[in-house]
Amino acid sequence: MAEEVLNKEYFINVVNDLIDLAEEKKDYYTDLDSAIGDGDHGFNLSLGFREVERNLPEWKDENINTFYKKVGQALLDKVGGSSGPLYGSFFMKFGLPVKTKGADEGVTAEEFVDMMERGVAIIEKRGKAKVGEKTMVDTLRPAQDKLKEAVESGKPIKEAMKEALDTGKEGLESTRNIVAKKGRAMRLGERAIGHLDPGAASSADILEVFYDNMPD
Ligand SMILES: [Mg+2]
Repeated sequence: MAEEVLNKEYFINVVNDLIDLAEEKKDYYTDLDSAIGDGDHGFNLSLGFREVERNLPEWKDENINTFYKKVGQALLDKVGGSSGPLYGSFFMKFGLPVKTKGADEGVTAEEFVDMMERGVAIIEKRGKAKVGEKTMVDTLRPAQDKLKEAVESGKPIKEAMKEALDTGKEGLESTRNIVAKKGRAMRLGERAIGHLDPGAASSADILEVFYDNMPD
């Protein structure tokens, strides 16, 4: 049996920090989205995670899959725009690879890779997006591929996640220099150049929360 490297508490702490992140970076996401979109990204994330915060005490005793399904459902129910439903879908699928775990069980590094893959894959599918289109996929797909590669080569989970995060941040930075092929920013054409994609930015911050909470 592979060793459990991330315990149940880790997965609750991540969500607690995502709630804080959505408040702390609200204005920043609004500014990014105002430049090339409709300016609702900060508000939407804040709205969604406030709903998560209200319900969190009730969900804490569920297993990881049910816990994240409830987080995802809250985002799907509360948040409009495109980012809310995409992140909602991410969390709905995130725990599926470990759905048979008990309420106190954590996950192995390999299981964590599978969980991230489910989440990223559903965002690609729902958003009909691939790398190079100035979306959150530009952060998430290269990060996920790096995570998988690093874990498969035997690196400890925190080191693997650091490599994934750095790769995701490079992906985020790459959105500055490309024309959008999805969403409202598409209409701007060349004028979107010079601006980061707001979804790619929040995705990098979300990956950072997953990294920061990992035990050394
Ligand atoms: Mg928007």
